[in-house]
Amino acid sequence: MVRKRKTQGKSFAQMEIGAIRKSGKARVKIALVYPNRYHIGMSNLGFQTAYALFNAPPEVTCERVFLPESDDPPGIGVTTIESKSRISEYDIVAFSISFENDYPNLLTILERGGFPLRSDQRTIPHPLVVAGGVACFLNPEPIAPFIDCFLIGEAEELIAPFLQCVSDADLNTESGRETLLMHIAQKVPGAYVPKFYEAVYQADGTLGDFKPMMEVPSKILRVFSKDLSSHPTCSSILTPEAALGHTFLIEVGRGCTHGCRFCAAGYVYRPPRFRTRRDFEKMVDRGAPITDKIGIVGAAISDHPDIEHLCLYAIERHLQVGFSSLRADSLGSALLGVLKKNKTQTVTIAPDAGSERMRSVINKGMNESDILNAATVLIESGMLNLKLYFMVGLPTETIEDVEAIITLCKRIKHRFLKSSKTKGRIGTITVSLSSFVPKPFTPFQWAAMDGVRSLKEKIRKVKESLNKIPNIRVHADIPRWAFLQGVFALGDRRVADMLVAAHNNYGNWAKTLKESVINPSFYVHRDRPLNELLPWDFIDHGIRKSFLASEYRRALDGIPSPPCPIESCRLCGVC
Ligand code: SF4
Repeated sequence: MVRKRKTQGKSFAQMEIGAIRKSGKARVKIALVYPNRYHIGMSNLGFQTAYALFNAPPEVTCERVFLPESDDPPGIGVTTIESKSRISEYDIVAFSISFENDYPNLLTILERGGFPLRSDQRTIPHPLVVAGGVACFLNPEPIAPFIDCFLIGEAEELIAPFLQCVSDADLNTESGRETLLMHIAQKVPGAYVPKFYEAVYQADGTLGDFKPMMEVPSKILRVFSKDLSSHPTCSSILTPEAALGHTFLIEVGRGCTHGCRFCAAGYVYRPPRFRTRRDFEKMVDRGAPITDKIGIVGAAISDHPDIEHLCLYAIERHLQVGFSSLRADSLGSALLGVLKKNKTQTVTIAPDAGSERMRSVINKGMNESDILNAATVLIESGMLNLKLYFMVGLPTETIEDVEAIITLCKRIKHRFLKSSKTKGRIGTITVSLSSFVPKPFTPFQWAAMDGVRSLKEKIRKVKESLNKIPNIRVHADIPRWAFLQGVFALGDRRVADMLVAAHNNYGNWAKTLKESVINPSFYVHRDRPLNELLPWDFIDHGIRKSFLASEYRRALDGIPSPPCPIESCRLCGVC
């Protein structure tokens, strides 16, 4: 389906503010690729940050590339936004990957760019293909055969040393390229060159060994910014064509203290870090002249110790403030006051599970009265619409837990009605249901996913019960795509064969999975023993595996754990 452009007859480039165009001959030319459409990529702060960092050195030019629009003529290949140049003309093609389900697009872009899909089939003059982004530092193995080098960790600490190696290298000869890859693998912390490592599989299909075949680190250390103030993380380019429109995105913190056991961001961005007031003010001052709306980005925004001050700083400059989701248990009067001043109409809260038991299993750290009180105070403060996130298919889930989602939504609706009476109008409750997908480096990395049929049945049950209630609507994801996400998130290098097969089958995954020599359920529909060697175990996030295992056991016993105290603690091993 062709997405209707907001600005007909104008190129994306013509609608932008802030794009970087460098004249003069660059020493290194980089095509930075977001493996999905323009409007999605331009709303991704990680992508925008990589763009600014790659363009920082004067001798490097970096231009952006997206999955071609479905109405783009097929023959045009893949070109950059800034200069409409083909990506085959660049020295480096760098993918910024946040979501596993974008992996098939990566192959489409490589092929339409005129490159062989697999690294071992590419030679000079094909560009060097590198990749980074959270999907890569969770588990890069399913796409490892397509990528020459991964950058594992936070871009602010990775891109400069990487570019240092590149700018001294000979990119135009095979031997020069080999030397560069070895240099990067040995000298750049967080760099991972897949071809220097061997994965050995056992007869039962599990990983028997994963070892370096060269003088390269046996473990890849995830690198992270110890001091967020060292780099601003905010939008570089604004465009009305972005999914979030002309919103200037500002990161207020990284990581989260709560330790919800399904949430990868709560683990791979440890230790939790907050930006200072001064940091934030500087970024607002940068955005205010070019927009009327800022978007506050972070895992647990409402936990920021200065959240009220930050918001008021923007509101006093006549800016609208947008939030991703807020925790029901941290809606203090100060924050409510800000939401009111901001004339916020819709607030998103994520109970994630319906029953107290299941919220203890996932370590959500909030109870039913927190959620119901949040609904009441939000409505009473003038926010008429609520968005509620829930998951189905969580470990140990019973049908009673699914029914508890229905019951909780009905109770919220009741509070909603009672509180709206004084407002003389009633808003909408939007329930968003997603299928639980276990993620690497979380306590649930050993857990099996629920079956597609069972997920469909649970979603149908919730929808049937809630869709008949006025002012409640239910949106749900597609369990079949959640299953594929699970295969891409938990798979090993052999999943690359499935990706190539699906690519050759024009995206016909049903056909591909039926013909696959590897049973995809092997990756997602079995509980893994705690001593199994996992495809992503070679990455060191600093979190002890024993900590994740003890959290998993506590989950299975329905025992919650205290939040991360941020300082003077050694519990998970990161600090
Ligand atoms: S060591 Fe303690 S303070 Fe540090 S990230 Fe882990 S749980 Fe949090």
